[in-house]
Amino acid sequence: MAYEPVWMKDPSALNKFELVKMEKDGLDVIRTIIDQYAKEGYDSIPEDDMSRFKWAGVYEQKPRDGHFMMRVRIPTGITTAPQVRALASIARDYGRNLIDVTTRQAIQYHWLRVENLPDIFNRLEEVGLYSYEACGDCPRTIVGNPLAGIDKDELIDTIGIVEEVSNFFLLNRDFSNLPRKYKMSITGNIYNNANAEINDLAFVPASKVIDGQEIIGFHAYVGGGLSAKPHMAQELDIFIRPEEVLKTAIGVTTIFRDYGYRQKRHHARLKFLVADWGVEKFKEKLIELIGDMPSKGTNRTIGWNAVYYDGVYEQKQEGLHFIGLNVPVGRTEASEFEQLADIAEKYGDGKIRTTMSQNIILSGIPAEKLEEALQSPVLQRLSPQAKTFMSRTVSCTGNEFCNLAVVETKELARDVAEYLDAHVELDEKIRIHIIGCPNACGQKHIADIGLQGALIRTPDGTVDAFDIAVGGILGPGAKFNTTLKGRVKSTEIGSVLAKLITFYKDNREAGESFHNY
Ligand code: SF4
Repeated sequence: MAYEPVWMKDPSALNKFELVKMEKDGLDVIRTIIDQYAKEGYDSIPEDDMSRFKWAGVYEQKPRDGHFMMRVRIPTGITTAPQVRALASIARDYGRNLIDVTTRQAIQYHWLRVENLPDIFNRLEEVGLYSYEACGDCPRTIVGNPLAGIDKDELIDTIGIVEEVSNFFLLNRDFSNLPRKYKMSITGNIYNNANAEINDLAFVPASKVIDGQEIIGFHAYVGGGLSAKPHMAQELDIFIRPEEVLKTAIGVTTIFRDYGYRQKRHHARLKFLVADWGVEKFKEKLIELIGDMPSKGTNRTIGWNAVYYDGVYEQKQEGLHFIGLNVPVGRTEASEFEQLADIAEKYGDGKIRTTMSQNIILSGIPAEKLEEALQSPVLQRLSPQAKTFMSRTVSCTGNEFCNLAVVETKELARDVAEYLDAHVELDEKIRIHIIGCPNACGQKHIADIGLQGALIRTPDGTVDAFDIAVGGILGPGAKFNTTLKGRVKSTEIGSVLAKLITFYKDNREAGESFHNY
């Protein structure tokens, strides 16, 4: 190893999984999958290596019967039509047609078998995509502005910066063994469209006058994350020029690697180190590593759009538009992906963009082609004008496929959104996020209404239920939602939410929105 692994000095203080990682780097499992397990089959995979599959972007699916789920990294959410066709072909050939868009702008497959993985890795690599390190204790997909380069509300185009940082960390063995998962975001958008506060490290647009000249650059937030103990990331007192983003990312990641906690898995995210050190000490350590940096300038984030773009909007390039589509509960399929690729090439700039709200954007469409593009059959389901609640419902994978899930989520999310659209009329859009366990992949804490799965005993046995939390918001005034008393059976969620939202509607004051709760 090229660096001093300070945490290795006392292996007795490490959790069991750290020993697994020390014995064999997570990245090494990719070669073993290709050379051995794909040939010898599911039963040949020992437990330790199964736990390293995450570094290949692959998890065992529920039930553990030889099927896998896979995430594919889409840095800043921007793909091309050929990439989307390759993604569709994989779903069609190996994944029973299913494609999920995740809350980290990634693509997720189900139903894969280990025998399929080498061909899938190849097909992805041929179009410049990777599942590697989409999961695992390593720098994962870098999320960012899905509209980078075309965004009227961006101060700086971040495509090149995301590419530079992503390429540096991908398959980099100096950073493939972090204490826990590690999530970065980079955006130049002034409406916080990469959800800065819930990332381990986030770059947001900022400006500073240096030597009489206004420089557009970034501020950095560190230590955000959700799960059972959610933390808001905190702003560091530094100003970062665009060419210094990579250096800063390397510095912060080095601190996490070398000083992050490795004793308990549930206490290993960067957020715990930041909370203990405080941002002052964190900054001092960072400066020690990367050299002096100017103090903060002006943070240019002015609000939060929760990464919703449904509808048709002008781009910063005159005469061009993008269409924001709703992907109901984030689930689509191979044939829809192929149709989106066709539309992107026929009418637009050939790009298909995924968002952290589990939706899709088509871009670069000239005004004169808009009407025809909007008539495309696939846009009737993946609609730019989805109904109020369907357009704002986010769901994690849940117990259909996820081994950690306590309850079912995706179908419930669809049913609840349909129920609310049929029973409640509202002039504002309330965001509902549903998660199947405390891990919070569906980012429940930042929702207007967040539902977290649990089980309750009834006279008829144990049934799926949910805790309900209200009032989550990011951007200026950011706060996680507050859990209400009581737990609601899954079969009653639709009617309970209808009552709750109707109560709000009937009692709100003039000018009040649901976010004021
Ligand atoms: Fe699985 Fe829990 Fe994540 Fe949902 S939140 S996908 S149930 S780990």
